[in-house]
Amino acid sequence: MPTSDGLLTGRTILGIFAHPDDESLACGGTIARAADAGARVILICASRGEAGSTSDASLVPDGDLGRVRTKELREAADILGVAEVIVLKHPDGELRWDDVPELHGEIVRAIDRWRPDAVITFAEDGLYWHLDHVGVHERTYTAVRWLGPDAPPLYYVTMPHGVMRKVVEVAHAKGGAAPDSSLWGITPDAFGAAALPPTFVVDVRDWIPRKLAALRCHRTQMGPNNPIAWLDEDEARRWLGVEQFRRSPLDCSGDFVLEQLGEPVASS
Ligand SMILES: [Zn+2]
Repeated sequence: MPTSDGLLTGRTILGIFAHPDDESLACGGTIARAADAGARVILICASRGEAGSTSDASLVPDGDLGRVRTKELREAADILGVAEVIVLKHPDGELRWDDVPELHGEIVRAIDRWRPDAVITFAEDGLYWHLDHVGVHERTYTAVRWLGPDAPPLYYVTMPHGVMRKVVEVAHAKGGAAPDSSLWGITPDAFGAAALPPTFVVDVRDWIPRKLAALRCHRTQMGPNNPIAWLDEDEARRWLGVEQFRRSPLDCSGDFVLEQLGEPVASS
């Protein structure tokens, strides 16, 4: 197990995502690893995910998917060791266009309040060009830029291209997914397809049990039709065990906290 006990004691990491489950999918392992290394991890989720699909209608008996997904997020966050979860109520599906000044202001105030040593959000590609993710990237970028050189380092998380295709193949081999299965309605080849290369990666193989457990908390999103639901720990370690990041070139102050957990990627 990579040793990082106490490495981030006294540090705060702020993750800013769009929907419940983004945190676990994009960087659940890094969140858990950072929390284990002593960091206080705070999550902001810009929406309640109310416009998402539901794997099983019986999970949402009153039809209030946003309420159920908020609860799923809090369960996942507990497993990952997150100290605080802030769920905003911006409209799922409209994050790129609606409430732009409001979300900007909320992110600026959160950074003011929590004084994070690092901020993590989506990259420009929004993991798979999801416009809500792109919108949260844009709002976070402008908020950090607005703070100027005193801002904390801003990190973009991306997904390795090809990994979700492998996840579908693994599920298919077990009878759990058609070869052309989607993930949340997205073709697996879209994940990471438009991502710029990472500058460092975090090995989270030892945190895979918690990443998987956190993903499985998102029950409304993780029914048997989702290929990820078919992965066992060894398979997840192989395909979801590395999380990748790039630091924004924006001016910032402080040291580069997240790199302390990672290994640099040589640029080609
Ligand atoms: Zn999302």
